[in-house]
Order: sequence, then structure tokens, then C-alpha cells
Amino acid sequence: MTLYLGIDFGTSGARAVAIDDHAGIQAQVDFPLDRQTPELWQEGLFALLDQLPLSVRQSIGAIAIDGTSSTVLLCDRSGAPVVEPILYNDARGITVMETLREIAPPNHPAIGATSSLAKLLWYARHPKLYPDALHRVATTGLFFLHQADWLGFQLHGQIGISDYHNALKLGYDPEHLFYPEWLRLALPQLFTKFIPYLPHVVKPGTPIAPITAEMGDRFGLPADCVICAGTTDSIAAFLASGAREPGEAVTSLGSTVVLKLLSRDRVDDARYGIYSHRLGNLWLTGGASNTGGAVLRQFFSDRQLAEFSESIDPTLESPLKYYPLLKPGERFPLNNPELPPRLEPRPNSDVEFLHGLLESIARIEARGYEVLQEFGATGLKRVYTAGGGSKNPTWTAIRQRRLNVPVITPTHTEAAYGAALLARMQDRG
Ligand code: ADP
Repeated sequence: MTLYLGIDFGTSGARAVAIDDHAGIQAQVDFPLDRQTPELWQEGLFALLDQLPLSVRQSIGAIAIDGTSSTVLLCDRSGAPVVEPILYNDARGITVMETLREIAPPNHPAIGATSSLAKLLWYARHPKLYPDALHRVATTGLFFLHQADWLGFQLHGQIGISDYHNALKLGYDPEHLFYPEWLRLALPQLFTKFIPYLPHVVKPGTPIAPITAEMGDRFGLPADCVICAGTTDSIAAFLASGAREPGEAVTSLGSTVVLKLLSRDRVDDARYGIYSHRLGNLWLTGGASNTGGAVLRQFFSDRQLAEFSESIDPTLESPLKYYPLLKPGERFPLNNPELPPRLEPRPNSDVEFLHGLLESIARIEARGYEVLQEFGATGLKRVYTAGGGSKNPTWTAIRQRRLNVPVITPTHTEAAYGAALLARMQDRG
């Protein structure tokens, strides 16, 4: 039996899931990440492999790794980091926004304070942070990698390879499969001394190379176990849901609400933070609202959420029209950086208040899908739900009434499972 291993490096932990040919889970192991450093990523990667039963390891035919989007670092040809990584949520790139807007076309997904390209430009402006490296890499080259690229390198040993999910916010063009001219021309002007190599980009899931002999021996993996190009953690979570057809979507009801809709056509609009990832011949369009579970948590414990929800009749529409936010500002589906939270009037009954909140978040979700379709995305057919809010059947019923399409809680929502499916796909063409 051949097994496929998906490895997810998320915001608070790493997980590996091994699946069989029928996508059934054969093993699952975890590693907590209380810091985000390359040393700990490597330790976590090795610990995950060590924890898998030997019989599982010996059957693994392919491995794919996902990492947090736009977590990046510079390293030398041996993979040794030459500067601290810049993490997914680090917005220091705000200082290079002007340059970013000058070099990138309007509305490009790489325009954003936390994009990979913003971080590359930030490194370009701070060469003093890695002075020794400039000697070290003078002959070997300097490589700009995403977290998933760097982790994949640990296993396949080929430096400088990425996938077009991780590379989208670096400026890579996934439609025409190249780095556009504006980016190629800008780099020599931005880096005064040393221009890092941008990764060679392939389709997510593409077999890159067999596991290195050293790693294969160390972990008892078969010599022909192939290491595949990875993806980002949120796309891996999308893949886990099983959504495959145009019109299928995944709503993540976590602290915030994130929508992803599989579309035949590509939709991008930076004003609303809408952009599309390529998924085979389709496009994964999406947007993120600031409303969500974090606002619910301001008023209710998870226990109260479950208990009060049971007393709500989801077939009735709440007349309360809120815009639940923690602080002013919204981007999608409404673009208004000053939009104030609207949580009044508050009824005396907690149940009615919660009904108003759940109804309002569902209204915002439905509007979000409408906006994606207005911009040209394929019509919504089915919504899978992930995140803490997916546990609430009352909310699911309210959302189903508003969205007017089947709302399904998928069996799998784990990014590691999605990465395992990606590893399995390469074997099936
Ligand atoms: P994240 O990973 O974004 O922090 P999670 O997916 O873990 O979020 O979901 C946590 C959120 O789920 C919390 O903000 C909480 O308000 C919400 N939540 C938990 N239980 C329920 C429930 N029964 N109904 C609705 N929302 C819930």
C-alpha cells in the first residue's frame, strides 16, 4: 500500500497526516510551534517524521508541505538562513508600499504590506542586517524562499523552488507562468549589492525530486519517495474540504470570515482585497471580511454560543441589522476603512441578540459571494464550512436560508489533509 503524506506548518502548530489511496487517514501527528524560527521549523519537520510509525514511513510514496502564506526568508545555497524570516502577519512592509505601488501594476495581489514582495523589498532596503552573508553568498548566491519552499528543500535538497500559490504575492504570474517584466526590471534597481534569486516556480503538487539519501536513511523513507511542490496553508485547507467544481466554495468561520469560491474566471480587485489563485484550470477567488467569531467572543463564551443558539429558530429572519466588527474598518465585501462597528440596538434577550449577530454575519457572507459573482466569478452552487462557527447547526441553517444553496460541513478541514491530497494527486496525474 502506498501512502501520501501532507505536512502543514500553520500559525500555532505543525501537523502531518498520512492518507492511503482512498484518501483515508492512516496516521496523524502534531508538533506545537510556540515560536516561528527556521530552527524550530526544522525541528518540527523532523519530529513529525520521527513520530510516524515506521510501517507508515516505509510506505510513503509522496510528500507535500504547506506553509503560512508570505512567510519568507533569505538563505544561501546550502539552505542556511542568512537573516531572520519575516512572518506571514508582519506588516513592516508598510514602509515600502510607495515603491511597491510604483513598480507593480494597479490592483496586483502583491500590493500589500504583508505580501512576499513587500518583504523582499524590505530586505532590499536593509542589507546591513545580513553583512556577513554578502561575503558568504558572493560565490554561492542568495535565495529568497517561502517557508514551504524552505521546508521542502530540507527533504528534496533542490534549492530555490516554489509553487504558484506561495509565489502569487511575490508577483509571479500564474496565468502565463512567468515573473512579469516589471518585476524582473525592478529587482536590479532595488538591490544595490546583491540580487537574490527568486524561486523557480512550478504547479503545486509537481514532483520535484526524490527524498535526499540522507533524509531517506534517517527517517526510513523509501528511496523513491517523491517530494512535491507545496502550497499555502489556506489553500491546503480548501483542498481538504473536497470542493472541486466551479461554483463550490468554502467559508471559514473563524475569528474572521474568509470566503473562497472556485471559479472558471479569474477575479482580482485589490480595493476589496479580492484575488485569485490558480487551481489547475480553475481559479480560486476569495476575500476576507473583518467580521466573524472574534466579535461573538466579545459577548459570549463558546458554551453560551452553543447553548443560546439552540433556542434560536433559524427559519425566522432576525430584524436586527448589525455590522459586527471589533474596531472600525472593513475591506470586503464593503471597502470602507472607517466603517464603524454596528451592534445597536441590543435587545434585552441574549438569544435575540445572538440571533441578530449570526443573522448579520450570514448576511455579510452572502453579500461577499454576491460581490465575487458581480466581479465575474462563477455562480455559487454549494458552500462547505470550516472553522469554529461550522460546529453551530443553527447558524448553518440561518446561512443556508440566506445563501440559498446547500451548506455542508465537510469531513475534513485540516490543511495537512489537503496537503496529503495534493501529494496523492501527483501520482494520479
Ligand atoms: P481562528 O482559527 O480564526 O482563531 P477558529 O476556527 O478556531 O478560529 O474558530 C474560533 C471562533 O469560533 C471563535 O471566535 C468563536 O467565537 C467561534 N465559535 C466557537 N464556537 C461557536 C459556536 N458554537 N457558534 C458560533 N461560533 C462559535
